[in-house]
Amino acid sequence: MSITNFYEKLDELVKSGKPPRVIESGEGAYLTIDGKKKLNFCSSHYLGLAVSDRLKKAIKTAVDKYGIGTGYRTLAGTHTLHIQLEEALARFKNAEAAIIFTGGYMANCAAISTILSKEDIVISDELNHASIIDAIRLSQVKNKFVYKHKDVTDLEAKLTEADRLRKTPKENGEEPIILIVTDGVFSMDGDLAPLPQIVKLARKYQALTMVDDAHGEGVLGKGGRGIVDHFNLHGQIDIEVGTLSKAFSVMGGFITGKKELINFYKQKARQFLFSNALTIADTAAVLEGVKILQKSDRLVKKLWDNTRYIKDEFEKLGFDTGQSQTPITPVMLPDEDLAREFSAKLFDLGVFATPIVFPMVQKGKARIRVIPSASHSKKDLDFGIKMFEKVGKELKVI
Ligand SMILES: *Cc1c(COP(=O)(O)O)cnc(C)c1O
Repeated sequence: MSITNFYEKLDELVKSGKPPRVIESGEGAYLTIDGKKKLNFCSSHYLGLAVSDRLKKAIKTAVDKYGIGTGYRTLAGTHTLHIQLEEALARFKNAEAAIIFTGGYMANCAAISTILSKEDIVISDELNHASIIDAIRLSQVKNKFVYKHKDVTDLEAKLTEADRLRKTPKENGEEPIILIVTDGVFSMDGDLAPLPQIVKLARKYQALTMVDDAHGEGVLGKGGRGIVDHFNLHGQIDIEVGTLSKAFSVMGGFITGKKELINFYKQKARQFLFSNALTIADTAAVLEGVKILQKSDRLVKKLWDNTRYIKDEFEKLGFDTGQSQTPITPVMLPDEDLAREFSAKLFDLGVFATPIVFPMVQKGKARIRVIPSASHSKKDLDFGIKMFEKVGKELKVI
C-alpha cells in the first residue's frame, strides 16, 4: 500500500466512528457539555470521588510537599506514597500484599503475562474484558480455552481437557499451570461471576484463579471491599486485579495476592519495570480514597440506596433492566438505532446516558447503560427517571 493510500484508508475507517462528547466540568452528578448542564447518568464514578473535596485537598497537600512526577519504580521512582498506597490497598482488600500500576489494563497484562508462558494453559469467560483478552494474547499461551459466560459446567469440561493437556510436561520439565480468569462484575450487564463454584472447581483441578474486580471495588462487599469479600472468599482467589479509575475515580490499577506472588510481579512484570510509576497527585488521591472507604461505608450505602431506587422506578415504568446484580443498570433497547435515538433524545432533555451497541455488546443486545452514583440526590435521580419515562413513551418502548 502506498503512503497516500494508507492515510486515506485510515481516514475512511475513522469516519464510521463517532467522536466522544467533550466534558467541560468536573465529573459529579452533573456534567457540562457544549456549555449546557446534563445529568451524569453513565459514568463509573460510583462513589462521587471524582469531585471529592477530600481528594482534592490530599492532592494539593502532597504536591506542595513532594512535587509532581516520580519515576521508574526499580530506579529512582519508588516513593513513600507508593508504598503507603500498596499497604493501604492490601489492608483494604484483606490480602497479604499489593502492587500498583498505571492502569487496570496494565495490571491485567502484568497479572497474566508475567506468570504464564507459551506452554501454560488459560481458561477464560467468553465475556471477559478486552484487557484480559489482550493480556492472554501477550502471554502467547497456546492452549487457550473460552468457556460459556458464567457456565460452570462448560468450565469443568474445559478443565477436564486442560487436565489432560497438563500431562505433557513443558520443555523445562515442569507441569503446565492452569489459570482460570474471570471478570468479577461483567461491566455491560452488571452480573456477577459464580466465584464460589469457580473456586471449588479450581481446587478440584489444582488450577490458579484470577478475578478482575474493576466494577466490584468500592461497590460490592463490606464497605466496598469487592467481590471476594462479597462471597467471603478471602485468601481463596490467587490473583485479584483492581482498577483505581472506577470507584476510586483517579487512575491506576493494582494486583493483590500472596506475598510470594506480589514480590514476583515486582521483580518480573514488564509493565512495572518498563513503565513509569503513578504520579504524586494520583497516588495521594487514591490513598485518601482508600482511607475514606476504610473508615466509613456511608458512600457505598448511598450508592446502593440510589441503585435500588432507580431499578425499582425503571421496573415500575416497564423498562427491561436485565439481570444486573450491581449498580450497573442496563435499559435494554435491543434495536441499535432505537438505542441511539433514545440516547439522543435524553441528551436534548438534559440527561447524558450513552448507548451501548455492537461491538461492545452482541448485535440485538443494544442498551443504554445507566449507572447511578453516590453523588446523585433523590431529586437528580427523579429528574433522570422522568426523562426516561418521557422518551420511553414517545418512542413506544413503554
Ligand atoms: C475499566 C476496566 C479495566 C481497565 O481499567 P483501567 O484502569 O481503566 O485501565 C479492566 N477491567 C475491567 C473489567 C474494567 O471494567
